[in-house]
Amino acid sequence: MDKHGLDAGRTWRQVYEISGGSWEQIGEAWVPDVFAYHISLACNHCDKPICAEICPSHAITKRFDGIVLIDVEKCLGCGYCSWACPYAALDYDKGSGHMTKCTFCVERIDKGRSPECVAACPMRVLDFGDQETLIVKYGSINSSYPLPEPDLTEPQFLVSPHSDSQRPNNEPADVTPSAPLDMKEQPLIGFTLLSQLAAGTFLALVILEALSIQTGQTTYTRWLSSKTLFGITLMMIASMLVSLFHLGTPQKAYRAFANLKTSWLSREIFFAAAFGGLLVLLSGMHWLNFGASVAQSVIAWAAALTGMLLVYCMSRVYMLRTVPVWKSPHIPLSFFITTLMLGELAAIVAITNWPESSTLSTAPEGIKYLIPIVSQWLVLSLFGLLVIDMLVTFVWWANFDPPDSGLHQSANTQERFRYISGLRMVLTFLGISIMGAFLYQYSVDPIPVIQLSTLAWLSFGLVLVAKIIGRNLFYKSYIRSGL
Ligand code: SF4
Ligand code: SF4
Repeated sequence: MDKHGLDAGRTWRQVYEISGGSWEQIGEAWVPDVFAYHISLACNHCDKPICAEICPSHAITKRFDGIVLIDVEKCLGCGYCSWACPYAALDYDKGSGHMTKCTFCVERIDKGRSPECVAACPMRVLDFGDQETLIVKYGSINSSYPLPEPDLTEPQFLVSPHSDSQRPNNEPADVTPSAPLDMKEQPLIGFTLLSQLAAGTFLALVILEALSIQTGQTTYTRWLSSKTLFGITLMMIASMLVSLFHLGTPQKAYRAFANLKTSWLSREIFFAAAFGGLLVLLSGMHWLNFGASVAQSVIAWAAALTGMLLVYCMSRVYMLRTVPVWKSPHIPLSFFITTLMLGELAAIVAITNWPESSTLSTAPEGIKYLIPIVSQWLVLSLFGLLVIDMLVTFVWWANFDPPDSGLHQSANTQERFRYISGLRMVLTFLGISIMGAFLYQYSVDPIPVIQLSTLAWLSFGLVLVAKIIGRNLFYKSYIRSGL
């Protein structure tokens, strides 16, 4: 048992060993040119603590004297701060389901004493005090290989760097320990894909409904049928329930709105709840046949806009400045492409299976005529999305540049996932091409709606599998700066 009562294997301060070098031939002899040094590191109580900025529940705050603390009562155990901290300073307590970290032994500081680690270090490696005094004693350097660029979070610590940390070309070195981060990404894959599917399908159907009002077609067709609306609402509710599995303490999920001011995660959850709430309201109005159609339209457009804001905030959650491979416009672009692609395909599935018409029995030919025409336009835009998707993916991979000191995860992501990434593109291409076959067939000889429906299901299934693979790859591409 240590001072803070941490279980075996958990530490708030880690001692990293950095080692490397090789053998060098000098004349007839082979001479070792190897090195090893250590860095002792805990939370640096940064001046710009990214952990506090992004925490959705405001559980992490900076005290008047600069000490950064976690209020475990407010922590949801979402793990987001541990994705972002480039010093690997956060420690997840599986038993209680919340995050912990170095408190700078704040209770000792308040009594005018030093932190326990400073007092206990037998080699007097650690020190603490006010910055001016420490700069006079040790200089002003606050980085050393493999630590991240200090301007990312402005850590409040100084280091007397080992001479081998300044080697030319920053030779590759092994760093121990460097345990991989458990991102618990499976619930997030479910949440992001289901909510993007719901937002995209809803937007496509609301636009179709508005266009049909323009052309007077609503007299016999509601593209946003009650059945489709209930399906989208259930999908959105399911996505939010799935996301709870990501949390260490799901019962505190309501606290996720607490930091709308600086946390994109808070904003994402806010818009997810707002989108879900508007869908439930609209479903209720359809169910009870309540409210004028104008009121329903206003709510539908508000919900469609909220869905798009949800997708935007979702993409911003991942654009962390300490994760350079994600700090890219590729993220919002690919999230919106997925939303629109899955949404349009699901919309074709919906209108070929569940059209709702007050006079359907008397106007079946009208429906049969209209559905393929609407689908045709959706398929044409799907081809446009396919081209943009391929371009965005190509540009992202071409510029994939993991940080030098990103030791946390394997840096050869591209190599490891080359084939599975290719499979994702092939499946997307096949899925959209199936709908292309429909376009061709329709131009030659219109096909029955039932056949169009089968093609739509097949196409949707293939693209959905491709997107599940793509979202898995996205989380695997995580490499943050620093440790
Ligand atoms: S070291 Fe990490 S956990 Fe500590 S304040 Fe800085 S960003 Fe937050
Ligand atoms: S709520 Fe999430 S981001 Fe905030 S401290 Fe807890 S685990 Fe970290």
